[in-house]
Amino acid sequence: MPPIENKIILPKSELPTSWYNVLPDLPEPLGPYLTPGGQPVSPSDLAGIFPQSLIEQEVSDRSVIQIPEPVLEALSIWRPTPLVRARRLEKALGVSSRIYFKDESVSPSGSHKSNTAMAQAYFNKEAGVTRLTTETGAGQWGTALAIAAKQFGIQARVYMVKISLEQKPYRKVIMNLMGAEVLPSPSQATDAGRKALAANPDTLGTLGLAISEAVEEAAGRSDTNYVLGSVLNHVILHQTVIGQEVKKQLASIGEKPNYLIACHGGGSNFGGLVGPFVRDILSGQKIAAIAVEPESCPTLTKGEFKYDAGDTAGFTPLMPMYSLGTGFQPPAIHAGGLRYHGAAPIVSALLKSKVIEAASISAEDCFKFAQILAWSEYVIPAPESAHALAKTCLLAQELEKNGTPGCLVFTLSGHGLLDLTAYQTSGVAND
Ligand SMILES: *Cc1c(COP(=O)(O)O)cnc(C)c1O
Repeated sequence: MPPIENKIILPKSELPTSWYNVLPDLPEPLGPYLTPGGQPVSPSDLAGIFPQSLIEQEVSDRSVIQIPEPVLEALSIWRPTPLVRARRLEKALGVSSRIYFKDESVSPSGSHKSNTAMAQAYFNKEAGVTRLTTETGAGQWGTALAIAAKQFGIQARVYMVKISLEQKPYRKVIMNLMGAEVLPSPSQATDAGRKALAANPDTLGTLGLAISEAVEEAAGRSDTNYVLGSVLNHVILHQTVIGQEVKKQLASIGEKPNYLIACHGGGSNFGGLVGPFVRDILSGQKIAAIAVEPESCPTLTKGEFKYDAGDTAGFTPLMPMYSLGTGFQPPAIHAGGLRYHGAAPIVSALLKSKVIEAASISAEDCFKFAQILAWSEYVIPAPESAHALAKTCLLAQELEKNGTPGCLVFTLSGHGLLDLTAYQTSGVAND
C-alpha cells in the first residue's frame, strides 16, 4: 500500500497576512467595558497599561487587520502549522468520521499562546515600552511571552500562580533561560499580593490574583506595560491565524467542517479557530462550534452572563461575560490553563446568541482519551487540549452510533511534555 498523506501543510507563502476581526460579525455589538463605578471605559483609561495600537484593535470595526512585517517574520518561524488527519485515532475509536487536529504545539512555546505573544511584544516595543508584566497560570503563556520578549528585545516579569509554579517547576526554568523574571503569586512585590498573603500565608494563588499583581505593577510604572494571554478581543484577533489556516487547509483537500472543537480557558484558541468561520455559520452553513471546559471550572456551561471583573482585586474593567465570580476558587485540576473564572466577551456573546455551543468534560475522560491519542498518534496533548480531544472522540462515537459520521476538527492547543506530573497522577501512566 502506498503511504497515505496525513499532514496538510501549507507553504510559507500561504501564511495569513492579516488577522480576521470577528467583532463586526457579532449578531449584537459587545457591551462596552465598564469602570467599577459603571461608567463606560474610555480608550484613554487603558493607555496606562496598553499601547494605542492594541487599544485600537480591542474596539476595531474593521474586519481585516494587516499583520505587521516583523510579526509575520516571527510567526513564520513555525507557521503555517500542520493540520493532521488523525487516521490512527479514528481507527482506535472505531469511527468512520474524519478527525483532524490543528497542531499548535509546534510553536516555540509549545502552545498557541506564541501567536499573540509575538504580536503583543511587537506592538509594545513599537510604542517604546521596555518592560512587560504578565501573569501565568499553567506557564504556557509566561513561556510564550518570555520568548516573544526575547524576540523583540524587551524585559519581562511573570507572576506565576504559586500552585502552578510548584507543580510545573520546569516552566520557570524555560522562562528564566529566555531571560524573563518569574515571581510566585501572591508575591511581596505588590499591594494585592501582600494583602492576599496577609489574609492567608498558605494561599495557593489564583489566576485572578496574579492578574491583579501584574496590572498593579504596570499601572504604577511608566516604562512598563501589561500583557494578557487570553480573554481580550485583541488576543482573539491575533489567534485567528489558526482558523484562517484551517479553512485553507480543509479547502485544499475538498473538505468542509461539520464540527469545530476547541478547549476553553479564557477563549483565545477557541475564538481563534472559530472566529473566521462565524460568518459561514451565520449564513447558514451547518457547522457546530463547541467550546469545551472542565466540569470543575464550568464558566460557560454553569456560569452567569453578567458584567464582571477579570481579576480578583478589581483593577481590570468590568466586562460582559459568562463568569463564575471573581471569588471562584478553582480546584487544583491539572489543566492549569482552564482554571479561569471568566470567559472572553467575544466567546460569551457568541454563546449567548447561540452561534456556538459549550460542553464540559471530566478529568477522567480527558486523560482516558489523551492516552488513546498517545497510543494511536504518539502525540501527548496538553491536559487543556485533551478537553477538546475528549469531546471530539465522544462526539465521533455518538455520530457513529447514530449513523451520521462527519468531519470533526479540533485544536491541539499545546503539547503535554511539560505536564508529565499531571499524567503521573492521572492514573494512565502507571508502572
Ligand atoms: C492557555 C492555554 C489554554 C487555554 O486558554 P484559551 O485562551 O482558552 O485558549 C488552552 N490550551 C493551552 C495549551 C494553553 O496554553
